[in-house]
Amino acid sequence: MRICISCRKTYDRNNLFKITKDHKQGIMIQKGMGRSAYICKSAKCYSDSKIKKKLQKALKTFLEPEFIDIFEKEIASYSDQPN
Ligand SMILES: [Zn+2]
Repeated sequence: MRICISCRKTYDRNNLFKITKDHKQGIMIQKGMGRSAYICKSAKCYSDSKIKKKLQKALKTFLEPEFIDIFEKEIASYSDQPN
């Protein structure tokens, strides 16, 4: 069980998007090794206007402005897949 950084509720990992600050490859979604933050699959959390700030705080890193675009595309592609 992990905590969503937005709503602070606990979820099974299957119900969360994992964002990792990988030691070598930088920010990765659903993969990578390093400090991670989790966001649940409810639209009000992953489309929160403050989500980037919350992620930066949780990952202790600076996220490029393009990150949100990449993140939204990743979420769209994962939502299309059946669980
Ligand atoms: Zn949430």
